[in-house]
Amino acid sequence: DDTLDTAWAVRWAELAQSSVAENRIALMELDREIGDGDHGDNLDRGFTAVTAKLADATPDSPAAVFKLIATTLMSTVGGAAGPLYGTAFLRAATAAGQGPLDAGGVAAMLTAAVEGVQARGKATTGDKTMVDALAPAAAAARSVAEVGGSARAALKAAAEAAEEGARATEPLVARKGRASYLGDRSAGHRDPGAQSSALVLRAAADAAAG
Ligand code: ADP
Ligand code: MG
Ligand code: MG
Repeated sequence: DDTLDTAWAVRWAELAQSSVAENRIALMELDREIGDGDHGDNLDRGFTAVTAKLADATPDSPAAVFKLIATTLMSTVGGAAGPLYGTAFLRAATAAGQGPLDAGGVAAMLTAAVEGVQARGKATTGDKTMVDALAPAAAAARSVAEVGGSARAALKAAAEAAEEGARATEPLVARKGRASYLGDRSAGHRDPGAQSSALVLRAAADAAAG
């Protein structure tokens, strides 16, 4: 059975927390270049609150874990990223349904997440935001699901696409969020939210890899 269960979702949250903590300074530096320098702190605070809440919770499905992540991030992260991350995990929870996830479930979850971020933030691909990591990740997961790949393979492809998408934000001029105030001067720097999204998706793939 290569479906992804509740233990995987909890492990994802834990690995996301440790990755964000490890990369807190790097994310702050990215956000200092084209924003206000708080993205690393914002997410570190959020995912630390998530793992603290999970320690006292007994979620019975991946969707229940995503819902806990969503509500916790919404109430602790703040800024632009808090509501966007919260919406992503809330939509993921709805798309995940009741049981474990197969590759189609992973694709549906990621597609719903990026659609939620776009509905809320009105950014499209190329605007130099987290959408530039999440949209290619969802597309990669759909491609794996379409050819009958495993849930684990879908997450691996999603993580790789997100990393490539985050790198590809470097030359872009920001058209949404705080970085857009810089106009052309936002080019030449990686978008912090795209980078953190890639870290979070890498955590999901690592949690599935065992
Ligand atoms: P703030 O800009 O309020 O300080 P953060 O620093 O925590 O918030 O998050 C900044 C990140 O949020 C950006 O790097 C970008 O990826 C993301 N972001 C900002 N606005 C939008 C938007 N409208 N749509 C999608 N993502 C956005
Ligand atoms: Mg910021
Ligand atoms: Mg801020």
